Amino acid sequence: MKLDLLAIAAHPDDVELTCGGTLLKTARLGYKTGILDLTQGEMGTRGTPETRAKEATSAAKILRVAWRGTLSVPDSDVQPGRQHKLRLAHVIRELRPHTVILPYWEARHPDHYHASTLAYEGCFLAGLKQLPIEGEAYRPFKILYSTSYAGVRPTFVVDITTEFDTRHKAILAYGSQFRPKTRQKKSKVFLAIDRLEDEMNQLARHYGQMIGVKYGEPFLQKELLAVDDVIKLPVRSI
Ligand SMILES: [Zn+2]
Repeated sequence: MKLDLLAIAAHPDDVELTCGGTLLKTARLGYKTGILDLTQGEMGTRGTPETRAKEATSAAKILRVAWRGTLSVPDSDVQPGRQHKLRLAHVIRELRPHTVILPYWEARHPDHYHASTLAYEGCFLAGLKQLPIEGEAYRPFKILYSTSYAGVRPTFVVDITTEFDTRHKAILAYGSQFRPKTRQKKSKVFLAIDRLEDEMNQLARHYGQMIGVKYGEPFLQKELLAVDDVIKLPVRSI
């Protein structure tokens, strides 16, 4: 399979919450997209790994993702170890994504910043011909960092106004992770997904506003953006 865009993140639902709208928008443009979850999210307080796997599959369908897989790294112990990097490099060689979306490299949750390093180094190693893994050497052309969890100034924002409702549906697919609605015991989860989604929606509104639309998802790239036609630059200055 040859993907145009592959989003890599630590836990199932990270991708939906941080760049789900962009994945859907890219698929709607006719590109082939994919999601690689590094863990199965088995440390989540609710829902068995099987339930979460089913939820991840439904969410992927809603976002029109062509491929979704997991590296099965232990949840809460994501480390950029050699074995994980080699396995990730193997996936990169199989999927040959043109562009990858990684988590930003600084985060509160260690799994998130380790995921960034693990994924970057896996992408790099995939291009080394002498690497002791199968497949033809390959490196993605472009690396984008999702900055939704990070609070740093992004390089650009993708307008997801049209995709916003469907992104919400994809997040709702993780039914087992939502705070119980009835008078059950109070949740001990630090960030239940409904609170997290609320935060992400506020961020989407914030970044959308910054580019003059309703909702947007922020990204950062280390390279500078090259521009051919300065007259066609979007987003009004004054
Ligand atoms: Zn996460």
